[in-house]
This record gives sequence, structure tokens and C-alpha cells, in this order.
Amino acid sequence: MTYDKKTLRDVNVENKTVIVRVDFNVPIANGMVDDDKRIKAALPTINYLLENNAKIVLLSHLGRVKKLEDLQKRTLKPVFEYLKNALPNVNITFEENNVDPKLADRVKKMENKSIMLLENTRFNDIDEKGEVVKKESKNDPKLAKFWASLGEVYVNDAFGTSHRAHASNVGIASNIKESCIGFLIENELNMLSKAVNNPEKPVIAIFGGAKISDKIKSIENIAKIADKILIGGGMAYTFQKAKGYEIGKSLFEEETFEVAKELLAKYEDKIVLPLDVLAATEFADVKPKKFKVTNIDPNYEGLDIGKKTVKEFGKYLKTAKTVIWNGPLGVCEFTNYAKGTSAVCKLIAKYGMKNNAFTLIGGGDSASAAIKLGFENSFSHISTGGGASIQFLEGNELPGIVAIQNKGEAVKATTAAKVETKPAVKSASKPAAKTTAKKEVVKKPAAKKPTTTKKTTKK
Ligand code: AMP
Repeated sequence: MTYDKKTLRDVNVENKTVIVRVDFNVPIANGMVDDDKRIKAALPTINYLLENNAKIVLLSHLGRVKKLEDLQKRTLKPVFEYLKNALPNVNITFEENNVDPKLADRVKKMENKSIMLLENTRFNDIDEKGEVVKKESKNDPKLAKFWASLGEVYVNDAFGTSHRAHASNVGIASNIKESCIGFLIENELNMLSKAVNNPEKPVIAIFGGAKISDKIKSIENIAKIADKILIGGGMAYTFQKAKGYEIGKSLFEEETFEVAKELLAKYEDKIVLPLDVLAATEFADVKPKKFKVTNIDPNYEGLDIGKKTVKEFGKYLKTAKTVIWNGPLGVCEFTNYAKGTSAVCKLIAKYGMKNNAFTLIGGGDSASAAIKLGFENSFSHISTGGGASIQFLEGNELPGIVAIQNKGEAVKATTAAKVETKPAVKSASKPAAKTTAKKEVVKKPAAKKPTTTKKTTKK
């Protein structure tokens, strides 16, 4: 899939109101931002717009909103606090009601180089009674037109949601004069394209994670360009069983058993399976026992690849010029079973540097595992989008990007008509008045918490 979309540099943003869809879907702990990676990744676009005298209206989702209780948990207020600290010299306001009929007036009064952050777009997925209405997630035309009416230019910089057609991406882009992609998406597209469009050979793909069913299409699509496909993680055991091996209590996907057999037959010369595993009698971070892959004790379940497998995978990584990785090779949330993933990260760091190879890791869990294990700087690119990067690797179109204007396309003559929207939900807390922060001194956001906490955000 190749795109030729307008970028920020193709659009005049000077003195304009620019609506930016960012991905501030960050983990929140104790009311504070717990991991600021995604916010930091949006700053180049925000800073560029500030430098170019734009007024910025920021939109983002945060987790899923399905009931009234979610409003308190999913508010973007902690992100507002974070932004005030990150951009101390910028006038930043927060709008608790993102469909307030008076919003347009307040946007008009914004000064150049100022920011307005609107509350979580997915608050519009429920109504005042808490009934699920999915106005954001189902791209409600009225909501899309309302948001589009707030600005003149739309910038999509939320790669993580670009595989979805929501009101805050596809909806706004379809109802505004001019649209483009931001720097984050531009970089993601460049990097992902580099991996799959004419990659330098040999290409080594690595697939792991829990389920084959989530990745069959990626495996099929990547198999067209990969010289070898190294398979580990929970998904490997369905392949092992297809080969007739005893897999004990390891993860097994009945519904993809036949598919696994077919893939093995079709890509016999490409698929490389583990040789040994580290296993436990229960799904817990307990001392592992080693088994040959052909013979796992029936009372054990495989939770990581063993050293022989790492060595075997290393044989292929040693000469790789392109590495595409999706999914951890073991239960990397457990210290005892993160070793395989960590060892392969190390090999990629070593050989990648030596061979000047292009190395990409995509998919939420594998990317966060690599970062957590300390390999943030060992890859050419770590994709910020889980589902979106998988869709890209599968060769599918990303609607949030398709909706953006192509390079050379004229500015549209009409803007969205003025639309009045009823608030879908009242904000979680009162009063609904805007909060302003100009050159305010605020306390620092929380430092990163130890990583054992479960993720609180979902795409
Ligand atoms: P995915 O979202 O498909 O990339 O899956 C990621 C999840 O796969 C992580 O939470 C891992 O803990 C899990 N995983 C990796 N290896 C195994 C395994 N051998 N058994 C069970 N789960 C695994």
C-alpha cells in the first residue's frame, strides 16, 4: 500500500485554526500520565504548528467509553496537566464538553500559537444516560461536521487509530477544506513502506504473540517478501501440534489448526519453528523447565523460546538486511519468560548495526516489550500503532489516511455547514467551564511506574 498524501509542509497553516487528531491514548495511573511516549511523539507536529502561527484544536481518544463510570477514568485532564508542563510558554485551554455549541465562539477568540484540548472524543460514544451510541466510533455525520466546522485545516497525526473510520478522523477529513498528515504519520508511513515495499534482502520476518488468528493475513502478506519467517510465542504451539509434536498444556488454537497446517505446507522452506521451550505447570512467573519442542511434558505449558531457538533464529538474523517483527516470543510480562524476546532484541541490535539493516518492530505488545526490556534505540523504527501497523503489514488500506487529501489536490471550496450538536454526555466533573493555563507553573508529571501494571488503555 502506497500513499501520496499532503503533509504539513504542503499546507499553509499560518494564522489558521488547525484541528489536529493526535493519539493521546496513554496509560493513566493515580490521575497522572504514566507513560508519555505517545504525547512526546505528537510534539513535533504541535511545535511546528505553533512555530507557524496556527491556532491548534487538539482531539484525541483515551481508552474505550462504554458506560457513565468510564467518564471519570477516561478524562483527558491528566494529559492537559502534562501538556501545560511540557509547553510552559503556551496558552493551553481544556474544554470539558467537546460538543458545546459555544465552542466555535471560543475557538474564534483563540490567539495564534495557542492550544485548545477537547475532552476525549469517545465521550460521544455514550449518551447522557450511559447508553452506547458510538457517535465517534461509528463516524456520526453530525458530530463529524460539528468538529470540522471548528477549523480550516485538519491534520491527522494519530497513526494508532488510522485503521478505524471514526468521526474524529475520517469524519472531519471529509468535511473540511484542507487536510494533511502530521509528522508522526508521515514517518510511520515512510518506515512501514520501507519494510514492505521493495525491502533490501534477505528479509527476515518474526512473528510471535498469543494468537495466529490475529496475524494469519500478516503472515500471508509478509511471506510474499520474506526469505524466512521465524515463529515463536504462544502462536508457535499450534504449528508444533500441526507437525505432530506433543505440546502439553501450551496455547493451542483449534480454529486455526488447519490454517497452520496449510501455512506449513505452503511455506515449508520459509517457516522456522522453535527447537526448545521454557515451560511451567501453570501460567505464572515461576522457575522454568526446559523441553525439546518435540516432547513437552503433558503437564507443562510452553511460555518462552529456549536458547537453542535463539541461536537458530540468530543464524538468519546474522545476514538480514531487513527485519520485520510482530509479537513477543514469550510471555514477556513474566521475568522468567522474557528472556527469549530480550535475547532476540539483542541479536537484532547487534546484527542490525553490523549489517546496516532496516529493523522494524510493530504491534502494541511487541513494541512495548522491546521498550520495556531496554531496546528502544535498537530498532530503526518502533511503530506507535498496534492494530494500524498490523493492518498496514497485511496490505490493507487505513481509512484514516485514505480520507486525507492527496498531494496536489485543491483546497475544497466548501466547509462544513454550521452544525449545532447536543452534548452526548455531560462531562464527568463540574463545572464545565474551560480551564486556562498561561505560563502556569505546575508540578511535574509522574515518573514512569514500574512496569508490572496492566495496561489501562485499549485501542
Ligand atoms: P499479541 O497481541 O498477539 O502480540 O500477543 C501478545 C501476548 O502474547 C503477550 O501478552 C504475551 O504474554 C503473549 N504470549 C507470548 N508468548 C506466549 C506463550 N508462549 N503462551 C501464552 N501467551 C504468550
